[in-house]
Amino acid sequence: MKQTDSLQRFMFERAAVRGEIIHLDVTWKVVLERRDYPPALRVVLGELMAAAALLSATMKFTGSLIMQIQGGGPVKLLVVECGADLIMRAMAHWEGDLAENMDLSELVGEGRFVMTIDPKKGKKTYQSIVDLEGDSVAEVLENYMRRSEQIDTRIWLASDINGAAGLLLQKLPDSPEADEDAWNRAVHLGATVKAQELLGLPAREIIHRLFHEEDIRLFDSSPVTFGCTCSRERVTNTLRMLGYAEVHSLLDETGYIEADCEFCNQHYVFDAVDAEQIFASSEAVVPASNTRH
Ligand SMILES: [Zn+2]
Repeated sequence: MKQTDSLQRFMFERAAVRGEIIHLDVTWKVVLERRDYPPALRVVLGELMAAAALLSATMKFTGSLIMQIQGGGPVKLLVVECGADLIMRAMAHWEGDLAENMDLSELVGEGRFVMTIDPKKGKKTYQSIVDLEGDSVAEVLENYMRRSEQIDTRIWLASDINGAAGLLLQKLPDSPEADEDAWNRAVHLGATVKAQELLGLPAREIIHRLFHEEDIRLFDSSPVTFGCTCSRERVTNTLRMLGYAEVHSLLDETGYIEADCEFCNQHYVFDAVDAEQIFASSEAVVPASNTRH
């Protein structure tokens, strides 16, 4: 049986090449339940989610890794966040109708790829921004890894309404010259993987089909889940940063301040009393220019 919502790492015993296979099942379906994405956008969002899990597992970080594709086309934004613990969330912004066969470059047009590592706990975030290069999510990320991280990485992705999946191969840094052949052979074999194999077969079966002539070491697989980091406390902090006057002007219109989390649809409501309380507990951050009554 296919192992669902899991990341399988593997390693070539005789070459400095590592690999991973990701399967997102419930993790992906939860994202689709939250918003009705047009089919073309759904495909690239699923692929970006699979890719984020694959790449995050190759990087050493604490907190969260956030990948954003910011576009100037009908799709304005794709965001995937993946925690070091493989807890993930994703969402996208778009405008108007999208034709079903649009690829990434048609969906987002000229754009940027932004990679952020947020260690949380008040530590400094690291961010890297590059022009979007490539017609697919896999190409964009391969180019990013080559240019910004100087690591040869190949990625194959697939996504449909039931799942998102991917295969990653990465040449380990400082691998000897002799490994060039082994790397090329691994990539050549990896490139034969089909979308329906990625989506439908267990990770071990895919690895066996592709690399049965190689000596492969399999590691234990890791679970992946959907999880949102939003909370009433975070919304409160955001409102506090807007300042007393701004928060009260928001209140004036309806008597309530309402905020929806774009990742999980959690609905947050603050009334006038709540709004007062935001500032009552933090006198220090109220800008001095705001008079209070
Ligand atoms: Zn949320």
